[in-house]
Amino acid sequence: MPLRLSTEKSTKAGLTVPGVPLEWVSEAVEPQIGKDLYAVRVKIVLGDIHADVLDKLLDLSDRHGGGDVRTTPDQNLVLAGIRRQELSNVYEGLLALGLADSRVERISNVLACPGRSTCNLSLTSSKGLATEISKVLDGRPELDVKGSSIKISGCPNSCGQHHIATIGFHGVGLRAGGGRSVPFAQLMLAGGAENGIRRMARRSVRVAAKKAPQAVVKLLETWKAEGGTATLDDFLLNLPDSRVKELLAPYSEVPSYEKEPEAFKDWGESDDYNPAMGQGECAGGVTDLVNEALQDAENTLKMARELIRQSFWKDAVTNAREAATHVLRAGLSNAGEVSNGWAADLAVWEKFYGSNEALPGIPPTLLSAPVADVTESVARELVADAGAFVEAVTDVYRWKPERFKPAAVVDSQEGGDRKIPLLDLRGSGANQAFVKVKLKLELLEAGQEVEALIDAGDPFRSVPASLRTEGHEITQLEPIGNAEHYSLIVRKGK
Ligand code: SF4
Repeated sequence: MPLRLSTEKSTKAGLTVPGVPLEWVSEAVEPQIGKDLYAVRVKIVLGDIHADVLDKLLDLSDRHGGGDVRTTPDQNLVLAGIRRQELSNVYEGLLALGLADSRVERISNVLACPGRSTCNLSLTSSKGLATEISKVLDGRPELDVKGSSIKISGCPNSCGQHHIATIGFHGVGLRAGGGRSVPFAQLMLAGGAENGIRRMARRSVRVAAKKAPQAVVKLLETWKAEGGTATLDDFLLNLPDSRVKELLAPYSEVPSYEKEPEAFKDWGESDDYNPAMGQGECAGGVTDLVNEALQDAENTLKMARELIRQSFWKDAVTNAREAATHVLRAGLSNAGEVSNGWAADLAVWEKFYGSNEALPGIPPTLLSAPVADVTESVARELVADAGAFVEAVTDVYRWKPERFKPAAVVDSQEGGDRKIPLLDLRGSGANQAFVKVKLKLELLEAGQEVEALIDAGDPFRSVPASLRTEGHEITQLEPIGNAEHYSLIVRKGK
């Protein structure tokens, strides 16, 4: 039976419990509708509770409540059906179990998916980051706002609900100079699924995982200083992306490895970061980076259209260009390429999709340099062109995915004495190398082989594992020379 809590402030007004801190009563206790009963929210840090403690909690509920302990979507627990005169006993029981923290609904009670603790799809340590953010906010009670949320996933799959958080993050691994990988956190802003709000968070900037707690503090401090009477959710909803970029720029940069090696480690890990993925354990299944980029394009386009409606011509144009960039990025992911900026992205798109008749050409308005003084007609034309481009590419991907295949670019050495094709992937990142080998295998028959030259480090650690997960067989993995590179031979599975 659903638990029905009263949302009327008056039903709780004046509720005091002798010997119990008022703060706990006002934050953790909720009247249930229609009965003289109360529900008590119990903060469970990161949703982890030891079996012994859970046993004792059930016992507490049996003795002083209705024997009813429920889980909540935000990783906490609720003891339901408690009479008013039993509230002090419940409080004492929770205190003894170390569970009487009243800050159940504060932003410092961060939600996170299991991430690297158990999930092999995880790109970064979601629980590690959540713990650090909570720690930082514990020391800043003036920023520990109620009614907003921070939610973190270790990858874009969103088991940690980052898409419906006031401040959300999902993990990404990026390549820095020297071929090293760095854990990053993709920021998502102003989503919501509480209090009658249903809103997808908008994609924002990426910050280094090690700097993400400071980025959160910066956003909260800015809201405190500039938000006036606006709630944090409303403030972030209306904070222009350009301002977010400016505010968080210091947290998006990664110094050299020599200068700051800690930035190259994930939270809670002593070794350098390695984004290797394997078989996942959770419902998230497979991360579809292409689909994700196209969804970003749709959301950004929606924003561009809204800005046109509000007559913000320049911001509308910025968003329209951004939407087109997301489409190019979808194409890049699909071809196992990484982004190197607008001009390089355009060239890669042209290389892989330029001759693909199923896909539209990039509108000339998007190719020309941005103009300083954007007029209404220019803005309208650009948003319309970007819209047509985004929608046409998305339609092909959704309804005729086989037509979204990248052109088979000949960068392998075949023929001559070679019995099997060779892909020289030295210098490619792990994900890039994996996609390239995968695309090549798609052209082969089951049982045929391909050889790939891959870098030591991340590609060596994760490409063979990911290919095995896909059902292929690794028949050779040998170091070349001084083991800076490896020769990997893969036999296509059935
Ligand atoms: S698949 Fe789910 S549980 Fe695993 S890291 Fe991604 S979001 Fe977290």
